[in-house]
Amino acid sequence: MAKYIVLLGPPGAGKGTQADFLAKKTKLAHISSGDLFRENFKKETELGKLAKSFMDKGELVPDNVTIDMIRERLSRADCKEGAILDGFPRTAAQADALEIMLTDFHGQVDLVPYITADQEILIERASGRWVCRANNAHIYHQLFNKPRQAGICDVDNAELVQRDDDKVETVAHRIKVYLEQTAPLVKYYRDHNKLFEIDGTQQVEVVSAMLLTRIQK
Ligand code: ADP
Ligand code: AMP
Repeated sequence: MAKYIVLLGPPGAGKGTQADFLAKKTKLAHISSGDLFRENFKKETELGKLAKSFMDKGELVPDNVTIDMIRERLSRADCKEGAILDGFPRTAAQADALEIMLTDFHGQVDLVPYITADQEILIERASGRWVCRANNAHIYHQLFNKPRQAGICDVDNAELVQRDDDKVETVAHRIKVYLEQTAPLVKYYRDHNKLFEIDGTQQVEVVSAMLLTRIQK
C-alpha cells in the first residue's frame, strides 16, 4: 500500500527543508503545493497567474484549483510508493478531498508530522530564506542553513533567490491565514491519531533525525 505523509506547520516551520530530506531517504515523492504553483507561474500557465495573485497577498489559492492540481500530481508514476505532502492540505475542504482522492490511489494518510515554532522565529526564518532558482526544494537560510558559497546552490550551482512572499508584512499575513484556516487541521489529525508533534526550533539535523526515526518505525 502506498504511504502518504502530510507535513503540517506554519509557514517557515521547516516543512520544505524536511520534505526534501525525507524524499531522499525514502521512495516517496516530495509534493509541495507552493512549488507547483511557482512552477506554473514560471511556465506562464493560467493556473500560475491565478495562484500568483493570491500568493503575493499571502492569501490561500482557492480550494478547487489547488485540489485539482494535487490530484493530478498524485496520479503520476513517481507517486506509486506514496508521497510526502508539503503545504497540502491547508483547509478542512482540502483535507476532506485528500481522504477521498487517496482511497482512489489505494492509500491513506499514514502520519502527520506537525512542526512547530513561534511567530518571531517564523518571521526570522522566512526573511532569511533563499531558494534555488533551478529547484525550489533546495532551501537555505542566510544564518541558520548557509550554502557553501554565498548565493549559490550546493546541489546544482544555480543562483539563490528570495521569494516575493517572504517580505515581513506578507509573512505576518500568511501566519494569520495559517492560524485561521490551517491550524484547525491539527485537531482533525490528532483526533484521527495521525499527529506527531515536533519542536521545529531545534537544529535542522535534529528535526530530520526525529522524523526519519518515526517514519521508519
Ligand atoms: P516551510 O516549508 O515550512 O515554509 P522551510 O523549510 O522553507 O519552511 O524553512 C524556512 C526557512 O527556515 C529556510 O530558510 C530554512 O533554511 C530555515 N530552516 C528550516 N528548518 C530550520 C531549523 N530547524 N532551524 C533553523 N532554520 C531552519
Ligand atoms: P508555501 O510554498 O507552502 O509557503 O506556499 C506559498 C503560497 O502558495 C501560500 O501562501 C499560498 O498562497 C499558496 N499555497 C500553497 N499551498 C497551498 C494550499 N494547499 N492551498 C492554498 N494555497 C496554497
